[in-house]
Amino acid sequence: MKMNKKLFLGVLSLGVALGTAQAQDEYTRKADSVLALMTLEEKIGQINLPAAGDITTGQAESANIAEKIKDGKVGGLFNLKGAEKIRDVQRVAMEESRLKIPLLFGMDVIHGYETVFPIPLGISSSWDMGLIEKTARIAAEEASADGISWTFSPMTDISRDPRWGRVSEGSGEDPYLGSKIAKAMVKGYQGDDLSDPQTIMATVKHFALYGAPEAGRDYHSVDMSRQKMYNEYFPPYKAAIEAGVGSVMTAFNDVDGIPASGNKWLMTEVLRNQWGFDGFVVTDYTAINEMIDHGMGDLQTVSAMALNAGVEMDMVGEGFLTTLEKSLEEGKVTQEQIDNAARLILIAKFRLGLFDDPYRYSDPERAKSEVFTPEKRQISRELASQTFVLLKNEDNLLPLKKEGKIALVGPMANNRKNMTGTWSVAGRHDESVSLLDGLKNALGDQAEIVTARGANVAVDSLLESRISIFGKDTERDPRPDENLIAEALEISKDADVIIAAMGESAEMSGEASSMTNIELQKNQRELLKALKGTGKPVVMVLFTGRPLAIKWEEENVPAILNVWFAGSEAGDAISDALFGDVNPSGKLTATFPQNVGQVPIYYNHKNTGRPLGEGEWFQKFRSNYLDVSNEPLYPFGFGLSYTTFEYGDINLSKTSLQGNETLEITIDVTNSGEYDGAEVVQLYIRDMVASITRPVKELKGFEKIQLAAGETKTVTFELTTEDLKFYNNEIEHIWEPGEFQIMVGGNSRDVKSKMITWEE
Ligand code: BGC
Repeated sequence: MKMNKKLFLGVLSLGVALGTAQAQDEYTRKADSVLALMTLEEKIGQINLPAAGDITTGQAESANIAEKIKDGKVGGLFNLKGAEKIRDVQRVAMEESRLKIPLLFGMDVIHGYETVFPIPLGISSSWDMGLIEKTARIAAEEASADGISWTFSPMTDISRDPRWGRVSEGSGEDPYLGSKIAKAMVKGYQGDDLSDPQTIMATVKHFALYGAPEAGRDYHSVDMSRQKMYNEYFPPYKAAIEAGVGSVMTAFNDVDGIPASGNKWLMTEVLRNQWGFDGFVVTDYTAINEMIDHGMGDLQTVSAMALNAGVEMDMVGEGFLTTLEKSLEEGKVTQEQIDNAARLILIAKFRLGLFDDPYRYSDPERAKSEVFTPEKRQISRELASQTFVLLKNEDNLLPLKKEGKIALVGPMANNRKNMTGTWSVAGRHDESVSLLDGLKNALGDQAEIVTARGANVAVDSLLESRISIFGKDTERDPRPDENLIAEALEISKDADVIIAAMGESAEMSGEASSMTNIELQKNQRELLKALKGTGKPVVMVLFTGRPLAIKWEEENVPAILNVWFAGSEAGDAISDALFGDVNPSGKLTATFPQNVGQVPIYYNHKNTGRPLGEGEWFQKFRSNYLDVSNEPLYPFGFGLSYTTFEYGDINLSKTSLQGNETLEITIDVTNSGEYDGAEVVQLYIRDMVASITRPVKELKGFEKIQLAAGETKTVTFELTTEDLKFYNNEIEHIWEPGEFQIMVGGNSRDVKSKMITWEE
């Protein structure tokens, strides 16, 4: 049956904007009207998501994938870049397939599109929800102009394990902060109206618990108590659902013995029944097929398992495409399940407005004028400087003066390609601003810059070859380490200050980039030792995608500015911070350990029955180590400024409360130094007695305030019993009356505290 395209679109056109619930019903009705026209093969095709494969501009016709599109065997494609190309492929679907159903075009737009922002772990360190939303909005504006209607972001996996390379892609260790960030990102991508051509559909991933693999090894098993899931790991996924995220991506790992992509409890009970998710679930890349290696059966079995669990779309593996028909015949899946999956994909396409205009997200003119513009790059620069964390600044070595002679050394000193960090698939790596570029831009002829490599990223060339991928060459220098160091010392000879740009390269974190050694690579430390030996002031600019165990550096280097991977404008943004045009205000969202043996180490841990005495280290028969204290190197929430902040006493509106009352907590914060600056004021509580063991601290509020030098502001937090709630042993979300400790401070370690009681 050949359909008249105009008639078809006319029947389906949504018309005026409707209220959400009403619109959803309308979308369902329309999706059903399409579903009624589809063959079984086309329905199964609708839930198939191949990667872009062999398509290049002008070749859509001849590519293998084009045949599938014509046959109605593709619901969407991903990681195809460019408005023209995408139009070309959409045309195949719209003109040559029987039902002319538009395709979804997805991409990993993770921290910006062509204008790249800092890696997500960096962005989270800004603690600035407006800024975070803005990064997602700009990413959506650029991606949508270039043909993308769907992104695989935000990644909201809580992680307490810096060995895991993908800690760089998340928002750190805290469920409360992680939830706020998840919401801001979904809002940034999706706006208020998904059919707006400037917005794209978001995907919360990786459901669930991908950030807790055993031993920090990517894709490894997760086995966790329900209490821990609900209280500590689930909240950010749930927050994204509450913010209306359009799709959910499954995780690669198993959860309590069942791979997430075939886990009915996760996909149906938690996601649909408990959280009311109404979008669609897509697997991660070949995650259905991988269930064969997980030991769950052959492709037909695992594909049926995924559909039965509540998965709607199969990314890349084509298990659905090649086996579901057979499974239906054999009664292993139902027609209703296949219909439901296809319906949810169609609804998403209606929500995005693709049935009204299949080309609305691919506008070559818009792409030319809206992508990677000087304005957007300027915003990236400004935002990036808000994500830097000043870890150490002995004797106010920073900010530097724009004068004299500055020596710049280290493997990240003069490398543009690595500035965009991991997962920046649309980025123009070669056009990023390196630190050397940035220093030159900042200094003009006010100061002299001399530079040398000093060290490669790693001594081990094999390790380095593994991380020189995705266009992010580390540009290894073949000379022996001693020669590189000698050269660095030579050029630093009469410098006034040395800037050492070191740490990781971009692809040392990210997917399949787990590390067992999270210290600075040996050769880089050797370089630092030599630089220190010159007696000159050394500023370490630390590039990293994960918390590192940089104890030696903390003890030996006078100033450390952690800049993560700061995006397209990295070098300019870093220079802004180094010379004090911007005062650093980032705060860590993941604990930095003293050594890898402390991992997992996180601020919101339980107390144990044998806690260490306050300020103690070793006590026999107490919970501690013989060889290192329990303290982190840098705690969650930590970050210095060029100025100093003083906290007054905590004022409480009451110290004994009942039921529905609200506790008001106020505290004065004074900028007691000489620079204007921003401070993230953090509120923590501790539930002293409960029916299950509770964390020693839990973040319950924060506010980022700007303070001029000498200025004081009063910060107010409000708490209600909603904030005291947790999941008990029966997984009921309740609060329990009793005593609570209220703590406020500039990081999770240095807090003021008062006690209250809260009764029924
Ligand atoms: C990653 C996902 C990503 C997908 C598509 C997978 O390997 O785990 O996060 O969205 O690939 O590129």
